[in-house]
Amino acid sequence: MINSRDIKDLRPDVAGACDIFVKVCKLRGLNVLITQTLRDNEYQAALYAQGRTKPGAIVTNSKTVTYHSGLAFDICKNVKGHEYDDPEFFKKCAAIAKSMGFSWGGDWKKFPDRPHFQWDNNGKATSYKTVPAMKYYDNFADLQRRSGLAYDTMLYLAAYDYGGDLIRKLACMD
Ligand SMILES: [Zn+2]
Repeated sequence: MINSRDIKDLRPDVAGACDIFVKVCKLRGLNVLITQTLRDNEYQAALYAQGRTKPGAIVTNSKTVTYHSGLAFDICKNVKGHEYDDPEFFKKCAAIAKSMGFSWGGDWKKFPDRPHFQWDNNGKATSYKTVPAMKYYDNFADLQRRSGLAYDTMLYLAAYDYGGDLIRKLACMD
């Protein structure tokens, strides 16, 4: 059974962006903990059973793994006892993730999933199996090389409004 919270288990293009997302959140005072990256069908089946044939609340409508095959991650607030009780925390994290190109589960009408983020080509992907590469990390690294700025300076800029806007615009260009 695979149930990983390691960013390195994400597809490399998504892992690079996820790593920057966590660092930018921290610079903004949002203490994010990644709780899940990769899972397999066996683990998904166990999640699906929760609230149906096993005790607990229903947490998924999917019997098999889709975006958690390397294109999605889940987060919580890294404060013991208050991991999921602060809607503003998730909203602020979502604003950062969405500006990088991730879709947020909190926007889903039928089954809102606030801790969940995924790369689905800005909602344009028709299947999790055929999602093109996310350009954010490569473009960020390219921008860093061309500008000669230190990595930490790039992160700092990415975390703040005007610098962040500029980096996001350039980094999200195809
Ligand atoms: Zn998820």
